[in-house]
Amino acid sequence: MSGIETIKSLLGTGGYIDNAKDMEPYLVGWRGGHAGKAALVAFPKSTEQVSKLVALCAEHSIPITPQGGNTGLVGGGVPDTSGKAIVISLSRMNKVRSIDKANYTITVESGFILTQLQEEAAKAGFLFPLSMASEGSANVGGFISTNAGGTAVLRYGNTRELVLGIEAVLPDGSVWNALKALRKDNTGYDLKQLFIGGEGTLGIVTAATFKLFPKPVQSETLLLAMKSVEDAVALFAELRKEGGDSLSAFEIISRTALELVLKNIPDTRDPFAEKYPYYILAVFSTSSELIPLRETTEKLLEKKLTEGLIPDALLAESVAQAKSFWHVREHVSEAAKKEGRGVHFDISVPISGIPEFIRTVNPEIANAVPEAIILPFGHIGDGNIHYNICLPKTWDDAKFESAKDTMKKSVYAALKRLHGSISAEHGIGVERREDLKEFKSKEEITMMKALKKALDPKGIMNPGKML
Ligand SMILES: Cc1cc2nc3c(=O)[nH]c(=O)nc-3n(C[C@H](O)[C@H](O)[C@H](O)COP(=O)(O)OP(=O)(O)OC[C@H]3O[C@@H](n4cnc5c(N)ncnc54)[C@H](O)[C@@H]3O)c2cc1C
Repeated sequence: MSGIETIKSLLGTGGYIDNAKDMEPYLVGWRGGHAGKAALVAFPKSTEQVSKLVALCAEHSIPITPQGGNTGLVGGGVPDTSGKAIVISLSRMNKVRSIDKANYTITVESGFILTQLQEEAAKAGFLFPLSMASEGSANVGGFISTNAGGTAVLRYGNTRELVLGIEAVLPDGSVWNALKALRKDNTGYDLKQLFIGGEGTLGIVTAATFKLFPKPVQSETLLLAMKSVEDAVALFAELRKEGGDSLSAFEIISRTALELVLKNIPDTRDPFAEKYPYYILAVFSTSSELIPLRETTEKLLEKKLTEGLIPDALLAESVAQAKSFWHVREHVSEAAKKEGRGVHFDISVPISGIPEFIRTVNPEIANAVPEAIILPFGHIGDGNIHYNICLPKTWDDAKFESAKDTMKKSVYAALKRLHGSISAEHGIGVERREDLKEFKSKEEITMMKALKKALDPKGIMNPGKML
């Protein structure tokens, strides 16, 4: 029996699909730009089955592409075009293994979807803080493997800070159980961190133990008009200090991004009578009933309006109004996708460097590519801007790629000047694999390659991704 036939008999009926039509959604990335082929898509139902499956792949040198919700934006979860790889989806592994209320932890399998995890935590009276627009599809294995960030990093950290333990199947099929629930553990290298943000290149994450947090009982959401990015950065510093520890989100939306949302997304409207170049979406929250959050937020807002740092502001009067503010923020990518062909940069710089980034790169791009609609938006409180650019739908590939190259030069030069990153939260995948060499030192690349070789000597785990 060939390797693929042996895998089919291991998985049994319902454990895999192999016809082209059914496999289609697993072989194209979210933005449509990355597409591949596969021998089959496997749906193992337990860690033991993943272990046997990976051992078979190792024996027969079959490449593996692990896949979560397939919402990744850099092509990491899509196989190459050889058709030799198998895609492994853990969607059938979606059980809660345990909740330890006194320890504030939850252990779940990798197929658990992020919204399910948030709901499960809430049911038990806790908060699982990771939140992003793809949360209805992204799953535990996927968001761990991209070290997802999202809108609550400011207060709770990236996925890296939320994971206490993992269970993974290594490239030879052995199971590594490190499902610890310890907040302190200085016993050598922290190996789980290699798998967080590992993009499926070192093994398959099958389960994880996460930190939980006290559930907020009060929350205030503000939409603030801003005259400039400089003012937004100044306001961030003041709200962080004056809001105590209650500031939990601080997101920026440019006017250009808002205009595309107004044009392309139903049920949206311009929030203020006047137009402003930028808007800030800020959230204060607390788990304490004793803190008068509404009153302090109103006072803070009044002070900043009087000082002139904020020209106009809306404080949500209801949960529905708060949701409508977030609706705009969460639909920028979709609105841009409807408008034209997108060039996407997921950059980070020190927060203090954001004004300079925008001040220098915006005019360079506008001069070089006058048709470009520049749409900066995102997690400004983390120094992370989704610096996306929309180009006309009618442009052919050659014109599009040439404009993309020009813009990339501008963006990357600014990132080098400001000691920034080409991937704040989306990862490297295939999209930024070549660019990584420009931003990592020779020593870093050598160490990364040595780690990959040590753990995956046959190179079967997600080949062609990241390195
Ligand atoms: C509308 C939208 C908004 C987004 N917003 C954000 C945001 O705010 N912040 C952010 O960080 N990202 C964001 N993303 C990107 C994306 O949602 C995240 O990268 C997410 O973490 C990917 O999860 P997934 O389950 O879809 O993984 P996939 O896309 O399926 O896979 C991502 C990577 O993880 C690997 N992988 C998947 N499962 C496993 C596993 N079990 N073991 C080992 N490797 C595995 C894959 O091989 C691939 O390399 C957004 C995406 C969209 C479409």
